Amino acid sequence: MAKFTAMTEILNFIDGRFSAADSGLWLDNIDPSTGKVYSKIARSGASDADRAVKAAKAAFPAWSKLPASERFSHIMRLADGIRQKSEAFAKAESVDNGKPVSLARAVDIPRAVSNFEFYAAAAMHYASSSHYTEGVGINYTLRRPIGVAACISPWNLPLYLFSWKIAPALAAGNTVVAKPSEITPMTAYMLAETAREINFPKGVLNIIHGLGGEAGEPICTHPDVGAISFTGGTETGKRIISQAGMQFKKLSLELGGKNPNIIFADCDFDKMLSTTVRSSFANQGQICLCGSRILVEKSIYKRFREAFTAKVKELEVGNPASESTRMGAVVSEGHMKKILSYIDLAQQEGGRILCGGNRVKLEGELSGGYYVAPTVIEGLDQQCRTNQEEIFGPVVTLDTFETDEEAVAKANATPYGLASTIWTSDLNRAHRTAEAVHAGIVWVNCWLERDLRTPFGGVKNSGVGREGGFEAMNFFTEPKNVCIAYNQ
Ligand code: NAD
Repeated sequence: MAKFTAMTEILNFIDGRFSAADSGLWLDNIDPSTGKVYSKIARSGASDADRAVKAAKAAFPAWSKLPASERFSHIMRLADGIRQKSEAFAKAESVDNGKPVSLARAVDIPRAVSNFEFYAAAAMHYASSSHYTEGVGINYTLRRPIGVAACISPWNLPLYLFSWKIAPALAAGNTVVAKPSEITPMTAYMLAETAREINFPKGVLNIIHGLGGEAGEPICTHPDVGAISFTGGTETGKRIISQAGMQFKKLSLELGGKNPNIIFADCDFDKMLSTTVRSSFANQGQICLCGSRILVEKSIYKRFREAFTAKVKELEVGNPASESTRMGAVVSEGHMKKILSYIDLAQQEGGRILCGGNRVKLEGELSGGYYVAPTVIEGLDQQCRTNQEEIFGPVVTLDTFETDEEAVAKANATPYGLASTIWTSDLNRAHRTAEAVHAGIVWVNCWLERDLRTPFGGVKNSGVGREGGFEAMNFFTEPKNVCIAYNQ
């Protein structure tokens, strides 16, 4: 089990063994609540990636030929291993990311366990189709695993998103080379420790640490990697698609967002209000599904603005390790500066800050931490950069609309299309608007209700492909049609 001292070394996990990067180099791992280095990360490169892919390739034939029931057992044991240490995982996630420990305990770690359990079960239930062809015979579809899959994930929901990729890749019979974000690698390292403790088959799951360009890119471009499941920024996604697309690899890209919350006057105001505070600022606004553009029907705008701002002012930013904290630190100094620069930009663009707008300085050892006050801005049109570009922090803008058409036009006015919420009591309007919004996921009168069987992903610059349920099992397998003619 990782001990969180300044000397903790976050090592690569290749072929069931831990190793430092071949270069012998390290990156600092910083605790965002204090701004201090608390562990070291292997700074891997192409040779580490190559070793990991070779190990995964060598392990593939045996793993892919296991009966589904045995893959089920192995993956369930991984889930159990995390569950047994879930408190340690939750604390580690909070330290590494800056998120409140209560959130890591309630959401991140239970969801990582569920991801493994869900896809362990999927291995047992997954089936393919057949088509009877009159006058010919029967076509059936074989779905076989691809081989070595690359799983690359971001920092905002570290183990949650890491496992969301690894679990279906393994369940479908692939072996994996995975890389967590270099900003939040700790729980991926703990996952590797868990895999070793339970004697997870060697080479089936390999985890490489390091920078995206140095460690992630050689995994993605490696000729023996057949599929890439990536979650992260749109610019990184473009780079991966431009390289791996040329190699005809299978790609699933879950990218950035600029999600609208559409609030009609006929909604359940109290439920909408409390959910909208959460959908704006949960995880310090660093969830790809957070709504960052709040569009409110003009007739209730004044009431909404007052009530919303009052509730946001009650959100106290505090020590992520404290049980009562609901808003912790943002993930890094660089990210904090980016968020603050967007708040400056919003003001230059004519926005008025209704609350927040500043860095928060906490006391004592937390004085060097990266804290930003939850920020609400009004007075900006949808075309300005503040409303067009992803900020990915505790910053939302308010805008109004007068008709359903205007609401939809404003909701769709960005290059992104990940998620949307719609608040209304009118059933027809709910269906109509859900259909018209450019988004892969629409929540009506709720937010972040997740059924793991449903398709997950975005349209436009928010990505290509879908995760979730059998969508992910389809992604991690290659269909082959077999046509059998017989005398009919
Ligand atoms: P990022 O794109 O900087 O990094 C994501 C991962 O990709 C990291 O592990 C990084 O090391 C790696 N990487 C970077 N360059 C690479 C390259 N050239 N080749 C291979 N790997 C490379 O993103 P981030 O800052 O870690 O995460 C924030 C972004 O993730 C936001 O844009 C957010 O919207 C997005 N996100 C999307 C979803 C979704 O489901 N659509 C979910 C969570 C986060």
